Amino acid sequence: MRYHNITKDDMLNGDGLRVVLWVAGCDHCCKDCHNPVTWDPDGGLPFDDTVKQELFDELKKDYISGITFSGGDPLHQANLMDVTALASEIRDKFPDKTIWLYTGSDWEQIYELQLMKYIDVLVDGEFEVEKKDVKLRWKGSSNQRVIDVQETLAGSDPLNPVIHCPDYYE
Ligand code: SF4
Repeated sequence: MRYHNITKDDMLNGDGLRVVLWVAGCDHCCKDCHNPVTWDPDGGLPFDDTVKQELFDELKKDYISGITFSGGDPLHQANLMDVTALASEIRDKFPDKTIWLYTGSDWEQIYELQLMKYIDVLVDGEFEVEKKDVKLRWKGSSNQRVIDVQETLAGSDPLNPVIHCPDYYE
């Protein structure tokens, strides 16, 4: 896996203050993507143990609510195995922290992935510029959904996702 950036004390990509890992690789090619530099899976820098430790050092801080995987697409084939292993390790080491993940895929295509066992909140779907609304909470376009993954998987119909929060700030 390769990555472009780590942002710390981030307030824009999930609840609370978070550390965000921006991975390389995305083949959704959304029109007016906010981050096309991340599309190339060979771009950015290699993700190694030093970088992983940098994430863990952030997660050790009391005021950090958790980690968000973004990009790029953490579910791109270049990333899926490594993100799954990393999310599993974080779930073990930091059980009180939340794990969010942004993907261009739809929930219905991915809900059976092993990775979903470790994710608290998933923001799904491609960015559709015609449905862009800057007032939306945690997402760029109204087709996307902010899904409570564990509540959804515990329910009787995983194809009917439980939404984590209202679309707009009240
Ligand atoms: S899924 Fe995200 S990173 Fe990928 S093209 Fe769409 S907006 Fe850009």
